[in-house]
Amino acid sequence: MKTNKSVFKILRFFDILIRVILMELIIGSHVSFTKDEQLLGSVRETLKYGANTFMFYTGAPQNTLRVPIDKQKTDEAKKLMIENNISINNVIVHAPYIINLANLNNFDFNVRFLKEELKRVEELGISKLVLHPGSHVGLGVDEGIKNIVDSLNMAITNDTKVIICLETMAGKGTELGRNFNEIKRIIDGISLKDKIGVCMDTCHLNDSGYDISNFDEILKEFDKEVGMEYLKVIHINDSKNILGSKKDRHENIGIGHIGFENLIKVIYNEKIKGIPKILETPYINGNPPYKEEIEMIRNKKFNQNLVDDVSK
Ligand code: FE
Ligand code: FE
Ligand code: ZN
Repeated sequence: MKTNKSVFKILRFFDILIRVILMELIIGSHVSFTKDEQLLGSVRETLKYGANTFMFYTGAPQNTLRVPIDKQKTDEAKKLMIENNISINNVIVHAPYIINLANLNNFDFNVRFLKEELKRVEELGISKLVLHPGSHVGLGVDEGIKNIVDSLNMAITNDTKVIICLETMAGKGTELGRNFNEIKRIIDGISLKDKIGVCMDTCHLNDSGYDISNFDEILKEFDKEVGMEYLKVIHINDSKNILGSKKDRHENIGIGHIGFENLIKVIYNEKIKGIPKILETPYINGNPPYKEEIEMIRNKKFNQNLVDDVSK
């Protein structure tokens, strides 16, 4: 019995070592985080999809109502993650999209909420929070960026353990962060730069006018403008709209205007190998598409029956 256990331990050690050496693809999707099951429910959902990471909102994305973190559920979730080789370093929280740091109307509330959210993320043991920079709603780009910088500098302190990852946006309406220059201008204003990062979103990049079929060029430009060291997360989505449409409507992998081959080239790009890739593609006929999408990504082969397979 005892030898069995130690043999198992040795095998596990080599398994982890090989995964680290090979730098296995880190892929997952958006999953739910419910009031009762919390992180444990999120991990269970992730395992159903055959993923090795995940992203979630700590409550409804469209509001700021949040429940306290359940320590026992968190501990159980962490145990389940270790058993399944999911590294918590690759797990992501998405901040609710209702907070708009570019607009001063709710400045105090936004800063307070962001601080509380950072604390919740830290309590869960997670290190990355994705945030939409905000929309200037008529104030203009310069003032919008200034407001984002001011709120972030208020929310981030020396004790902050979580990295806030600014998401690249589609440029819908007055959204900021629609190009690398705007992202750079925000980062330039941040005092504690080691607590800030970037999340690229392939649908948003396409819609804002970056041609994903030339992803190496995009990375080059990002490195020149912002710096590769800031890139922490990539959202992998196809787009319902054409290049430069400024729309932001996600499509399932391989059936949008970006296309399967272009997304595969992003996912397997050598320069972003260790960076978590997260799917935020829409449900199909009420069912999550993530198991099937992850399967075809691992096979590097588009599944012509994706819609039917998911609908079943
Ligand atoms: Fe987002
Ligand atoms: Fe996204
Ligand atoms: Zn989006």
